[in-house]
Amino acid sequence: MNVLVINCGSSSLKYQLIDSESEKVLAKGLCERIGIEKSAITHTPDGGEKVTTESPMPTHTEAVKLVIEKLTDPEVGVIKSLSEIGAVGHRVVHGGEKFSGSVVITDEVIKAIEECNDLAPLHNPANIIGIHACQEAMPGVPMVGVFDTAFHQTMPKKAYYYGLPLEYYEKYKIRRYGFHGTSHDFVSARAAEILGKKREDLKIIVCHLGNGASISAVMNGKSIDTSMGLTPLEGLIMGTRSGDMDPAIISFIADKEGLTADEVNTILNKKSGVYGLSGGISSDFRDLTAAEDDGNEAAKDTLDTYSYRVAKYIGAYTAAMNGVDVIVYTAGVGENTARVRASVAEYLGYLGTSVDPEKNKLRGEEVILSKDTDKVVTMIVPTNEELAIARETVKLV
Ligand code: AMP
Repeated sequence: MNVLVINCGSSSLKYQLIDSESEKVLAKGLCERIGIEKSAITHTPDGGEKVTTESPMPTHTEAVKLVIEKLTDPEVGVIKSLSEIGAVGHRVVHGGEKFSGSVVITDEVIKAIEECNDLAPLHNPANIIGIHACQEAMPGVPMVGVFDTAFHQTMPKKAYYYGLPLEYYEKYKIRRYGFHGTSHDFVSARAAEILGKKREDLKIIVCHLGNGASISAVMNGKSIDTSMGLTPLEGLIMGTRSGDMDPAIISFIADKEGLTADEVNTILNKKSGVYGLSGGISSDFRDLTAAEDDGNEAAKDTLDTYSYRVAKYIGAYTAAMNGVDVIVYTAGVGENTARVRASVAEYLGYLGTSVDPEKNKLRGEEVILSKDTDKVVTMIVPTNEELAIARETVKLV
């Protein structure tokens, strides 16, 4: 069956068409600037050239229509007609406490996702628009919602409670939810498979270090803690997000700079992280490591601070699980940035793990970085959230 995987942002739509039997990506692409001028679709068929076409997309509905046009196009298309799409899998960011797994999308499910809008005001409305647009363009095709939060719903209260008045949890459901769940699930399962062990028998720490970054503790196959919280702002230092800090800093900055809480929130999400801390060098680790190699001190301090935070979380999750068997790196930075993996490893000798400098030069492939004799395995496992969504979709339809 061919599964169309859809990931909608507020003004973008990413897609992949995956043949679920061979798990081959038949085509992938991106619609950008939806709802604004100069919107364009970039479509790449398997083995073919990337084609970018400017076309008006006032809403996500036109974007979905264009995706179907490209997929069925006589020249750059990969299927003859819409009937060759067996199901659609939608990435949905926030499922609150309502979804602990993927679900077939019905009217009730859409309502329940809408009820989580408050918890992810930038993401969930876009995800719902994408679902409606696909329903309109592909009536009758079964659709599945795969939630970023679902894998972490197994966390115990002691991991998801904040030290706040309980009434805020009861009234507003303020608690830790965690994100990147599809990736933490996929990567921890794949790590166990590579090691020839059952995930149920392992204590795994997954470091999903991308532009957004989170760490999870996966014990006996279940997420028992993760670093992102009510929103994806908490935890590690990220590309442009601050991660953990003293909450009193918000009102302090607001007072000093004459800003509203919302404006400070924007700074914490968009102008902070490695971008902000480096004094604006970049949010991209390729630029930061290049700047460090050129002797830039701010870049070095930023990379040191970033790596130190990752190492501290690994220590915390080792304590949470009373041990660790496997540490896995994944996502853009985790898979590619040797500098970060090497720095983190310097803190982890006490655990009985290491990172081989030669193997650490490898990028974006499955590789065990530690020695055979190490007590704890450190490895890279590239993530593949789209494939994980396609698999979930097939399982449910
Ligand atoms: P993601 O959100 O997983 O797509 O990760 C994106 C981030 O990964 C980028 O902002 C870069 O910081 C980092 N990244 C991607 N490719 C490389 C690379 N070849 N070397 C170093 N960092 C990379």
